Amino acid sequence: MPALTLSRPAPDVALLTFDLPGKGANILSTPVLDEFAAHLDALERDTACAGLVIQSGKPGMFIAGADLREFVAVMDTVTAEQTTALCRRGQALFQRLSGGRFVTVAAIDGICVGGGAELAIWCDRRIMSTNPKTEFGFPEVKIGLFPGWGGTVRTPRIVGLANAVEMITGGESVDAPAAVALGLVSDVVPAEQLLDAALRLIRDEQQTRQFESDRRRWAEPLTINPTELAFLGATASAVIQQATKGKYPAPAAALELMLETCAEDAETALLHEAEGMATLFGSPVNRALINVFFLSDRIKKDTGLDRSDVVPRGIQSVGVIGAGLMGAGIAAATVKRELPVSLLDADADALVKGVRSAMEDVTYNKKLKGPDVSRAVQFAPLLKPCGELGELAACDLVIEAVVENADVKRQIFARLEPQLRPNAVLASNTSTIPITKLAADLARPDQFCGIHFFNPVRKMQLVEVIRGEQTSDTTVATAVAFAKSVGKLPIVVYDGPGFLVNRLLFPYMNEALELLSAGVPIADIERAAKSFGMPMGPITLYDMVGIDTAYYAGRT
Ligand code: NAD
Repeated sequence: MPALTLSRPAPDVALLTFDLPGKGANILSTPVLDEFAAHLDALERDTACAGLVIQSGKPGMFIAGADLREFVAVMDTVTAEQTTALCRRGQALFQRLSGGRFVTVAAIDGICVGGGAELAIWCDRRIMSTNPKTEFGFPEVKIGLFPGWGGTVRTPRIVGLANAVEMITGGESVDAPAAVALGLVSDVVPAEQLLDAALRLIRDEQQTRQFESDRRRWAEPLTINPTELAFLGATASAVIQQATKGKYPAPAAALELMLETCAEDAETALLHEAEGMATLFGSPVNRALINVFFLSDRIKKDTGLDRSDVVPRGIQSVGVIGAGLMGAGIAAATVKRELPVSLLDADADALVKGVRSAMEDVTYNKKLKGPDVSRAVQFAPLLKPCGELGELAACDLVIEAVVENADVKRQIFARLEPQLRPNAVLASNTSTIPITKLAADLARPDQFCGIHFFNPVRKMQLVEVIRGEQTSDTTVATAVAFAKSVGKLPIVVYDGPGFLVNRLLFPYMNEALELLSAGVPIADIERAAKSFGMPMGPITLYDMVGIDTAYYAGRT
């Protein structure tokens, strides 16, 4: 079945619609690109065609990029020359979008990233929908590469070198208003008006022929004053060094490439882009990051069970016991997804502190770099401070995050469980205590599991769902679905010592203390770990976890 369909919204305008049959996303695999090339062949022969609009048939999803499985398939055998040739082929195909007789417009609704963004950037014009899902970006550095189908050449010529450097070396997408401000898109309209807006744009271009002078301009070298170029190079490489600690070569390679090729004509720059790609493609970092991408993607689709007939329980309200470091973080993550939370602590001061910390978290506005009153108004009613376990009786899910002490936790469960609704799920955020042991005295051990968040909850995506001996499939499915609903990536793990993460982490943390006891200065231990690539040293991490919590967990 074809991935593209051609239609004629006007006699002289072609509309190509990407819609991969049976797939949630449009991916640019070789067969899809071949199909695209065949359509371009036909359109280039059609002298009546004055304009081409490219859109997606999937609402909220323009094109998600190249097919990474094809990359992996050739990685072991491909030579540098072959990598360069692969890039050259993609460049040559997309180049046709700004080389033909007719004006081309990408009408973007939803995600437009990677190879999709390169296809769009080769069009003469881009328009975006107001759909909040609409984004444009080059995330290639996140898999250890840079755009290799002309992205590093065309983007600086359209949005300016500094903006292109930020987009390509940072790998973050921009939304529609930001894209307008960058000069990346000509217009932003509601999704249902995209086609009309594209047709209007084509009519305007037919009159003004502005696209022809833009094509000529974007084929030339960029004119940038050498002082500005040196300043941009120095500041961008400092930002990259800070972010990558020198461990991820792609952003620095992309920067170097763009600084060099901006002074070349586009044709020469494209060759250098393709050659540069050969130094990154198939490297150990590239392989590892692609593996991380596939694993994360698999977790996103995973229900936590091997069977597909289990329906997770709906969670409409959550209770969190313990308003400390973790409890406040879990409450904030939950409230942010608009689920009401009852937050309880035995200590009144700790409760006030926990509520304050959770509110600081949920009201933080990235753009304002500070608290946002409208977020406070939206979220404050969802967070209810509690002093009595009975106030959590109506919750569908209760997560315990009190001190790492099995007796304290079990006493809480013994008092709370009889008050809960028959279907409610009870969970512990314990770092180390066996779930089966915590469930020993429960009346409904099948409705109990571990839901282990990591510190700081705001930043850490991973959540371990720990299955005790008697935990039911429904409980596992519910915990997994809940963790996903609050934006996390849950993995289901066995109830063994340290579960997964702490089993890996503790030998490392312990070794740091052994070194410290042997007289190695803290600064040396920290430096060694950080130069290996850890985001912080192990001694700093002890402080962040809390030495008391680390001690209790270590004893377990
Ligand atoms: P914390 O000391 O910051 O907070 C614990 C809170 O529980 C305190 O506010 C305390 O007043 C409250 N509390 C103690 N006994 C209580 C009771 N009987 N009833 C109600 N509240 C009570 O501890 P934390 O770091 O948030 O750790 C909480 C749990 O999360 C522990 O099981 C810990 O192992 C686990 N955990 C911690 C981290 C971490 O990095 N700190 C990471 C993952 C999991």
